[in-house]
Amino acid sequence: MPEESSPPEDVFTDVLRTLGRAAEAGGIDTEVVERLRHPRSILQVAIPVRLDDGSLRTFDGYRVRHDDTRGPGKGGIRFHPDVSLSQVKALALWMTLKCALVDIPFGGAKGGVVVDPKELSPLELERLSRGFVVALGDFVGPDTDIPAPDVYTNEMVMGWMVDEYSRARGRRVPAMITGKPIALGGSQGRDQATGRGAYEAITVVAEREGWEPGATTVAVQGFGNAGRSVARLLHADGYRVVAVSDSRGGICAADGLDIPVIADQKAERRELDAVYCDGAVGDTEGADQITNEDLLALDVDVLIPAALEGVITGDNAKAIRADWVVEVANGPTTSQADTVLADQGVRVLPDILANAGGVTVSYFEWVQNRQGLAWPLDEVEGRLRDVMRRSTEAVLDHAEDHDVDLRTAAYVLALRRLEEAISATGTKADFTSA
Ligand code: NAD
Repeated sequence: MPEESSPPEDVFTDVLRTLGRAAEAGGIDTEVVERLRHPRSILQVAIPVRLDDGSLRTFDGYRVRHDDTRGPGKGGIRFHPDVSLSQVKALALWMTLKCALVDIPFGGAKGGVVVDPKELSPLELERLSRGFVVALGDFVGPDTDIPAPDVYTNEMVMGWMVDEYSRARGRRVPAMITGKPIALGGSQGRDQATGRGAYEAITVVAEREGWEPGATTVAVQGFGNAGRSVARLLHADGYRVVAVSDSRGGICAADGLDIPVIADQKAERRELDAVYCDGAVGDTEGADQITNEDLLALDVDVLIPAALEGVITGDNAKAIRADWVVEVANGPTTSQADTVLADQGVRVLPDILANAGGVTVSYFEWVQNRQGLAWPLDEVEGRLRDVMRRSTEAVLDHAEDHDVDLRTAAYVLALRRLEEAISATGTKADFTSA
């Protein structure tokens, strides 16, 4: 049992704790762990933005390149009022592990701007997006560090960013960012990729566990890019999605919700359709209202946190009644909560596996940009399915063979790939006679 029930003070410290535990379980070289405890480079910027009323406001932004041993840094950009350096460092470390786990040739990176985009007009948001890219300068680029969408950023924001980056260099540089509009070099299937990847991973678990979709209940916290896509795909397969939520609260119906209708209603009501989620799922008629906290405690087979990190903590983990937690969000479960869930027999399909579909199709997008190709949707989805199925099978097998939880299994497999790459640049044994 955890010694204390309050959430950890710092998200990066917490993820280092999980990393340390997994490294020990996998017998990973301590030099490798030491390397991964320290991000390679951190850039902090101030972004001055002229607001529509003529006044000037300055926003703080960060980009962290955590590790690039296996390839250029890769990771999304988040616009959210709670962005902090510690959070961006944690998100960048998870990207390093995720890319290694699914074996794509990228390292880990992440960016964030401290802003509530819902308070900005579309023009202010455009100026902020372009201003962030200007401030990042050559810290990002197709061979160094390639951003993508994350919470409250989307393909339109990526389009502004690639346009600004290209303008400054006098040539189009589509491979500097992924998750772009298809017309600007984006990939078919990128928009749905995170949800589809999670769906493929869940399908592997379902086959092994013998789930019947019609008899399997699901609750999804966060009805944005990732949560909405996985809810749609599970609903289309016949799963009973009994609850969904967004930042303003949730809805539930024991017989299951009509996910396509809810998605359409939410899209219709928001004014900035292409920019970020504005309408609320709670506006939906014919379903009961619940809070986000209640949603987490529903008695369902599969709980899918798909919003923000740190929502399942040492305090509320005991209330979780789901048999499985599928982490579509990055870092929704604290290390304390992990221990409580394990004691309760709740199985957690970890974020670095469950949401890896996004970065996988981002990788496909980068490959297409560099080769001047545009793959059809079925090719993208087929390749994504292969990566997700292979990675999920590997994690489930490792957990079973070594009698460890799924997060430990995923971390160990990722750390072994990183160990192989980092060791290839020289280890203690290469430099000592012992
Ligand atoms: P998004 O901006 O499209 O959607 C976020 C959703 O979360 C919205 O529905 C919002 O209303 C909801 N939300 C915000 N605060 C909430 C709260 N306190 N409680 C409940 N819901 C809340 O973002 P996204 O891209 O879908 O990202 C969601 C999660 O998935 C994040 O953890 C992100 O890091 C992770 N992720 C995203 C991608 C991607 O490709 N977009 C890839 C991997 C992981």
